[in-house]
Amino acid sequence: MTSSKLYHDLLGLLWNSLNLRGVRLFLYALTVALIFPSSRFILAVVAILTIGYKWYKDYRPHKNRNFYYFVGFVAFVAVGYGFAFVNVRNVNEGQIAMRPLGAAIDQVTDGVYIGRGEGFRGSIEVEVEVKDHRIKDIKTLAYPDLISVLDNQIPEFKKELLANGRLFTPQQPKMLRGAPETLTGYFNAVQDALSKGTPNFPKYNWFSSIFLNSFIGQAPNRVTLNALAILFAVFMVFEYTLQSMLNPGTGRSINCYNCGSCVGVCPVKEVEGVQIPMGLVLLTRLGDYERVMELSKYCVGCGRCASKCPIGNSGPLVISAAFQAAREKKGTAFTGDKGNTA
Ligand code: SF4
Ligand code: SF4
Repeated sequence: MTSSKLYHDLLGLLWNSLNLRGVRLFLYALTVALIFPSSRFILAVVAILTIGYKWYKDYRPHKNRNFYYFVGFVAFVAVGYGFAFVNVRNVNEGQIAMRPLGAAIDQVTDGVYIGRGEGFRGSIEVEVEVKDHRIKDIKTLAYPDLISVLDNQIPEFKKELLANGRLFTPQQPKMLRGAPETLTGYFNAVQDALSKGTPNFPKYNWFSSIFLNSFIGQAPNRVTLNALAILFAVFMVFEYTLQSMLNPGTGRSINCYNCGSCVGVCPVKEVEGVQIPMGLVLLTRLGDYERVMELSKYCVGCGRCASKCPIGNSGPLVISAAFQAAREKKGTAFTGDKGNTA
């Protein structure tokens, strides 16, 4: 196989994959999970529920082994969450008990340690020097927050830390927006640095770390939830409205008034809980072309609906547009000859 043929086939595969709603949804979720780590837990739960429901519906009745693979995967994830949860809880309890690492400074080995803490605008990084089990010096390596806090509150706090030689919780300033968060971030950075020199400071095991980083991320905050809601709404609008409008064949389905005039004259009227042909029009609007194709066998092609529809829709018209759209989706290669791939 020549490299240009391989490239052509790969491009075709990508192109055809993007034509599937499930693939688009997966890519969307992946992008959101990368941009908003704290959305990972929600996305993982939604993905498992969605895939589980779909596979149960499709495969359970036929006892397909794929269903049991999925059950095995869910069981693995559930056991993984249980295992990680116990470890995370123990570490959290241990960290709370050792916070602030004040009296426990005796356990910190002498040395220089770097630590990080989340401030008001980003990560604060410090370098802490410990000598004779006392804090000897603190250098600020990275600081994205307000300069006024760096010039006033931080030096004051640092002076007290050096005088005491150990970490303690700072008094929260009441002025300056973001100053409490900055001071807490600075405190956390020093705590993080000291924890690195403490051999028995509680740590996550490797399994919990992977689980936390890949599945859970941080706890979702309000910004993430709002962003998720907006992005999800954009996705839904595109998937369930714009894409059928953009498709030349099915675009007119968006104009249906749901008036039901077509149903009134149709000899079929309703099958499998779908009103014919209005239900076909609505399914086409949602991009569910496969369902339209399944139900198309009930239309006898009498054409009565066409004479009643105020916008010129008809069962046969919608069915043929859905067939055409589905055929384009199933194209086997990026041939540039879409619509002629059946
Ligand atoms: S053409 Fe099909 S959908 Fe339209 S009225 Fe006849 S049977 Fe019903
Ligand atoms: S008659 Fe036309 S506008 Fe009315 S429900 Fe049927 S397809 Fe929609």
